[in-house]
Amino acid sequence: MQYDYDDQNIFAKILRGEIPCQKVYETQHTLAFSDIAPKAPHHVLVIPKGPYVCYDHFARAASDAEILDYTRSIGTICAELGVAPGDDGNGYRMIANAGHDGVQEVPHLHVHILAGRNIGPMVMMRP
Ligand code: 5GP
Repeated sequence: MQYDYDDQNIFAKILRGEIPCQKVYETQHTLAFSDIAPKAPHHVLVIPKGPYVCYDHFARAASDAEILDYTRSIGTICAELGVAPGDDGNGYRMIANAGHDGVQEVPHLHVHILAGRNIGPMVMMRP
């Protein structure tokens, strides 16, 4: 596994406080904030604070404490947004893009949580 983390990416700058964000939730290992170009009424980005490029990098290299914190944070955020189906919410979609074919724009792991409207088909095919 070879990942070179670029510490000049925009989310690294948000983590260092060099760029502002609209914070939704924060823990020791995790930060969540609103997407700058929301695609749904709720569009939250959840990132680990550690230098992980994408999901498999995180899943293979992060500590158990980071993974636990990140996973629990996603659950808490869904509950706090009121979108968890188990709490009578209307549901949500989680997306984690990775690499070239996944069309990942920002090379710091982020999960998108999209909710507040019907999100439509799982994958929109390009023409
Ligand atoms: P990706 O395509 O990498 O999965 O998604 C990157 C996301 O980051 C996009 O939805 C984009 O709107 C969002 N984004 C890019 N720059 C910024 C920023 O400076 N602040 C915030 N809050 N979101 C950003």
